[in-house]
Amino acid sequence: MTQILRPRRASIGEGTEVGRYLPTRSHTTVGAWCFLDLYGPSDVSDGPGMQVGPHPHVGLQTVTWLLSGEVVHRDSLGHHQVIRPGQLNVMTAGAGIAHAEESADRHPRWLHGLQLWVALPQALSQTAAAFQHLADLPVAEVGPARATVFVGELAGARSAATVHSPLLGAEITVVGAIPAELPVEREFEHAVVVVDGTVQVEGRSLPTGAGAYLPPGRHALAMAGEPSGRVVLLGGEPFTEPLVMWWNFVGSSADQIVSAREDWEADRRFGPVPGSQAPRVPAPALPPGRLVAR
Ligand code: MN
Repeated sequence: MTQILRPRRASIGEGTEVGRYLPTRSHTTVGAWCFLDLYGPSDVSDGPGMQVGPHPHVGLQTVTWLLSGEVVHRDSLGHHQVIRPGQLNVMTAGAGIAHAEESADRHPRWLHGLQLWVALPQALSQTAAAFQHLADLPVAEVGPARATVFVGELAGARSAATVHSPLLGAEITVVGAIPAELPVEREFEHAVVVVDGTVQVEGRSLPTGAGAYLPPGRHALAMAGEPSGRVVLLGGEPFTEPLVMWWNFVGSSADQIVSAREDWEADRRFGPVPGSQAPRVPAPALPPGRLVAR
């Protein structure tokens, strides 16, 4: 029942290549998780590191999870926050926010992490923008597995991150061949991405960089190390609402996306990002034809 989630190579500018696990041709969402990029590990000691200038979002939450390095978040609400591995940034775009993500001039050698997006339910797509930083996250020990829970709840450990649909996000280290049986919600579908080492998931060996999709209907997920590894586990109740995704925007209709693009290009709605050094990112041209819901 385990399906392989094949990432495609994508560029996020300045020659930075990422593995994009969501959306792909086979899977557009896992729960309300609608975007999953894995970047690095990259040696950024001789370069500027991450330099993503001010750009807008609507209709989604961005979830930043670092495995190595340091990123500085700034947004149009005025937040200025350094994030490090083991910490969480959740930015709720709602009706609109702009942010920038940059490495400081002096930064650690390695950059390795995940950029995740969560689609907001239609009823909350126009909610007020917000930003949350969590420096301390709960840890669950399940046999030989150690899980840091950044969204939702796993084995009694519950994250304080604010999300708006039933959702799970955890970083899990597994050591040794005896499988850990991680208790999961039967209604949830899951995705696993191996970020270090090799991990056996439901009996299937997954090397670093491999991803797997697990449909709903299980109450436990078996994971063992070969001999050890680290994964990011995402889960949620299948997201069934209409979903239009284009560039940095998520909506339930094409009109929401088109008007968000117009407002960004006309410098309306989103506001400036104080303190950002990198240039503002212009919106690309809309594709020919009408944007359609997946
Ligand atoms: Mn962004």
